[in-house]
Amino acid sequence: MMYELRSERASPYKRPGIPGPRTPVGEIIPGLYQRSLVTTSAFVITAPDDGNVPSASIVDAGWRLFDVRYLLNYLRELGYQPGMVRQLISTHWHPDHVGGMAELQQSTGAEVAAHRVEAPYLRGDTGDDIPHPVNHRWVRALLWPVSSEMRPRPFPVATELDDGDTLPLLHGAQVVHTPGHTPGSISLHFPDDGALLVGDALQREGDRVTLPAPLFTRDMEEAKRSVRKLAELDFEIICFSHFPPMRKGARAALRSLAEYVS
Ligand SMILES: [Zn+2]
Ligand SMILES: [Zn+2]
Repeated sequence: MMYELRSERASPYKRPGIPGPRTPVGEIIPGLYQRSLVTTSAFVITAPDDGNVPSASIVDAGWRLFDVRYLLNYLRELGYQPGMVRQLISTHWHPDHVGGMAELQQSTGAEVAAHRVEAPYLRGDTGDDIPHPVNHRWVRALLWPVSSEMRPRPFPVATELDDGDTLPLLHGAQVVHTPGHTPGSISLHFPDDGALLVGDALQREGDRVTLPAPLFTRDMEEAKRSVRKLAELDFEIICFSHFPPMRKGARAALRSLAEYVS
């Protein structure tokens, strides 16, 4: 089946040339871009006026083996070379988000930031693999032989993030710890730009905002607490990793989910 690519705004990128992208590609607000990858997406945040040295940051890296070259091509399309990437940020430790991070880190030389709960696993410090993303043990057993090749390789994490940290992205980003989907899931709130980037902490069904996918979510009660926390924030647009951004009625949609799960 061919997927019809639609961008809600004119995109500098015409076709990604990969199968099955599910999200639109392009600019969400000035300086914030979403790039479809094989099953997920990543975000590029540009800083053209940063002390006259243009730089970019990237949120998430997609799957190992598949996604990094598409992401780097997109970066170049936007006018940024890999060496201009200043920071890489992980929303959470799932393999569709950090699988490509080791390669992306090597290609760009950028520092990686991740939540402090997940950083030791991402570095490989614990001696344990990052826990398998699938919650259901039979499904997990079924997927295990295939998934071992796709497991993320360790990479250095220079910055351990915590709730309330601020990052110099767009006009200022606040780190919001939103555990539940994984223990160290983070969202990024851009209060002055009216945007909220939630990774996999939320999903979207048309005009509704919904809870994260149960099959891939470690602790749904904690995920509900995170929903209530996000609903307190002020924003216009929600950016999801697996869905197009919600531009209209996003805050009302999230508040109604928060009421529903209370
Ligand atoms: Zn995901
Ligand atoms: Zn996930």
